[in-house]
Amino acid sequence: MKRNIRIFLAVLLAAAIAVSASYACSLRLSEARIGAETAALALPAYRGEPSAEYNGGRPLFTREELDSIRDVRYSDLDALGRCGPAVGFLGPETLPTQPRGPIGPVKPSGWHTVRYDDRIEDRYLYNRCHLIGYQLAGGNTDPRNLITGTRSLNVAGMLPYETMVRAYIEQSGGHVLYRVTPVFQGENLVAAGVLMEAWSVEDGGHGICLCRYVFNVQPGVVIDYATGRSFADASYDVPEKPEDSPHYILNISSRKFHLPDCPAAAEIRADNRRAFFGTREEAVAQGYEPCGWCRP
Ligand SMILES: [Zn+2]
Repeated sequence: MKRNIRIFLAVLLAAAIAVSASYACSLRLSEARIGAETAALALPAYRGEPSAEYNGGRPLFTREELDSIRDVRYSDLDALGRCGPAVGFLGPETLPTQPRGPIGPVKPSGWHTVRYDDRIEDRYLYNRCHLIGYQLAGGNTDPRNLITGTRSLNVAGMLPYETMVRAYIEQSGGHVLYRVTPVFQGENLVAAGVLMEAWSVEDGGHGICLCRYVFNVQPGVVIDYATGRSFADASYDVPEKPEDSPHYILNISSRKFHLPDCPAAAEIRADNRRAFFGTREEAVAQGYEPCGWCRP
């Protein structure tokens, strides 16, 4: 009889574990929280995507943090002027009601105003990047909430998740415990990346459950994270802007014109080769014949 009860309890326990595991987002509450000391954090390798899942997508909040944090907290800057984790209990009441003001005067650690017109849309490498996005809790000009972040980190990396959290709050009226931890390696003034964690409180993580590491990188640019200096990556294939691409390639010796990708066009000697931005009719009007191979 006792044995049967033990078996019954074991089956019950297994069922309970199966049920809890079926929740998309059960927190690992025993895991140590990531604080300002992030040296031990095992960072995912950058593989060309702006961000990567971390800890199986489950945030690392402790039970104590879930139960106690009911405000928005920024870490004081450290001796090098660097930000620490920013954590917020976000809800309808934290969403900003004022239009966003300028943040130009703030100079986060490692800041440089530098542009790469040929390889960055919007040109500038660095943004003053909010840890807790402005659209979630204001905190617009607070230096404890602004890091030197690449355009990729800000727009491709963080913004989609900030927007997701904001939409959840607006639609549900509920709260999200939210933390962004900048990861500085050694004495570097520019963060290697940020860890974003979010968990919707009232529905136990069903609406929002997020743990992602966002890389503070920019394709085509090499960054010295110690200082924030940067240079163009010579091996980077700069994408040609459509308006800068010639419509045709002229051979001024043979008086033929080609489509830009014609194999014959590739063999034209440099001194006979001209890019042509006009129309087909204009090329013909200037005495050029269409190539018989590519038939422009
Ligand atoms: Zn051709």
